[in-house]
Amino acid sequence: MVDYGINYWAGDDFIIEDGKVKVNYKNKPALIDIVKKVREEGYRGPLLIRFPHLIKKQVEKIFQNFENSIKEHHYKGKFKAVFPLKVNHYPNFVLPLVKLMEHRCYGLEAGSKSELIVAMAYTNDNCPITVNGFKDKEMISLGFIAAKMGHDITLTIEGLNELETIIEVAKTMGKPYPKIGLRIRLHSAGIGIWAKSGGINSKFGLTATELVEAISLLKKNKLIEQFSMIHFHIGSQISDIAPLKKALREAGNIYAELRKMGAKNLNAVNIGGGLAVEYTQHENHQNRNYTLAEFSGNVVFTLKEIAKNKKEREPDIFIESGRYVSASHSVLIAPVLELFSQEYDEKALHLKDVNPPLVEELLDLYNTINERYAIEYLHDSFEHMESLLTLFDLGYIDLQDRSNTEVLVHLIIKKVIKILKHKNHKDIIRIQEQVQERYLLNCSFFQSLPDYWGLSQSFPVIPLDRLNKKPTRSASLWDITCDSDGEIGFNTESPLFLHDIDVNKEEYFLGFFLVGAYQEVLGMRHNLFTHPTEFSVVFDDEEDGYEIENLLEAQTILDVLDDLDYDTKEIERILKQKIDDSVQISDENKKEVLGQLYVMLSENGYLRTVFKSEGELG
Ligand SMILES: *Cc1c(COP(=O)(O)O)cnc(C)c1O
Repeated sequence: MVDYGINYWAGDDFIIEDGKVKVNYKNKPALIDIVKKVREEGYRGPLLIRFPHLIKKQVEKIFQNFENSIKEHHYKGKFKAVFPLKVNHYPNFVLPLVKLMEHRCYGLEAGSKSELIVAMAYTNDNCPITVNGFKDKEMISLGFIAAKMGHDITLTIEGLNELETIIEVAKTMGKPYPKIGLRIRLHSAGIGIWAKSGGINSKFGLTATELVEAISLLKKNKLIEQFSMIHFHIGSQISDIAPLKKALREAGNIYAELRKMGAKNLNAVNIGGGLAVEYTQHENHQNRNYTLAEFSGNVVFTLKEIAKNKKEREPDIFIESGRYVSASHSVLIAPVLELFSQEYDEKALHLKDVNPPLVEELLDLYNTINERYAIEYLHDSFEHMESLLTLFDLGYIDLQDRSNTEVLVHLIIKKVIKILKHKNHKDIIRIQEQVQERYLLNCSFFQSLPDYWGLSQSFPVIPLDRLNKKPTRSASLWDITCDSDGEIGFNTESPLFLHDIDVNKEEYFLGFFLVGAYQEVLGMRHNLFTHPTEFSVVFDDEEDGYEIENLLEAQTILDVLDDLDYDTKEIERILKQKIDDSVQISDENKKEVLGQLYVMLSENGYLRTVFKSEGELG
């Protein structure tokens, strides 16, 4: 049995029991049963399942760890948190989030006008809103409107020009003013793929010189009382805690120095986001070297030390973690449509009476292979294959010889794997690559796992059932786009093995986990595949069951075309006309063909192939 590393990436959110992946909450439903229930209603294609209780769990963990650290260190500042909307803006995520976190006063962070509108509409009363990113006069005015509505809003300035605009808007719009934050440019660099968010060459933030200038501008324009927060963000998915500690020391000292320069209401340090999510399925490939307790302890301790040394008040701590809060709440389910194997057995071998000598040698290797020389024979067979392919290119052997070569090498690999199965030999995993099975999945990686395509981010993947059977197939995964990048190849460093199944007789589903951060909004409609059908699994507080809520079907083909600004009425008209005019379709048949076409246009574009024995697959 293989557990697909569930203990690394799932925390205790999901467990394996009775060979199935189960939600580790309340009555512990199996994901496969949830999926089957929804598919019985006729929904096909990929499914995105949301678990709102996991959103709450993550936010609670952040609050609890920081509260523990604050208690432990007798820290006098408060802890506050906001959710950065850019990580997941979908209403079926955001609305449960604000509702579930009412008691915590958890706010929202906005980085654009549209996000700010969402924050102004849905942030719970008295909870903070922070605004980052580049702002024009209109966006700053929007911040003033939010303040007038009674929101506790902080506009974080990314450059001096924004401060000048604030001064201008303050004159025309009057009080109450929003609070003002300054994003600081740290000399300690960010890390990881997102390093551009921090460091001296970062896209954002004020240098020391600009900070001094900002303070003098704020004083001159009587806005210094509004200045209450400094902000930094060293990048997403912080794998190593050391750069964060460095950034904290730098930010803490800037905080203290700005207070000494007369920023009397400066009382908060906003440490941005970046808390990492553990995506790994394999031991020794961990994505982060710290726990949340260590993280919160370091933040509190460092800021306390600096405040003590510089004799300033201990600042309130703001955090803007997004990935950590949202990643675990959703799971992508992809039905397996087809297995493409190079499944050659001896029947595929059509040896001639006289074969090229190297083919004869391959045959000999195949027949005489044994445990002792297995790896050696394997290497020999690869060498022979190379030579035979060269001979083919030069015109010395024919296609039948080439086919026999392919089949024999394949048979040799399989035999070696079988002979050495009981050894966990590194070479064995390596040669699995040669016999990998391609699993065709009814989903689009471009739509549902864009960071796999863009950043090589891997997401944990696991079959929803059969987990009490050993998976024997080295697997690579293909999506249904016609793009060769829509493939997750077999990786010998982090190999994936799946079960041998007969798709004509049985269903097989893969779950991709931790897809709740960034993936949805970054997803693209390559080949015009849309957001999958989605729904939330909501557990009742009192009763022992769950409800399926907020079911949102994938967009239909006509909707997608409409979004691209096609005139869909015209498309329908043209198609109907072409059928009417066709001499290939008999008059009695025209209505039926038109009907079929209309049904298709009103469905989503994912595949609905027919299940050969008993109905529909896909
Ligand atoms: C993107 C972003 C975040 C969220 O980062 P995560 O790595 O998802 O926690 C927080 N703050 C700012 C300013 C950001 O740009």
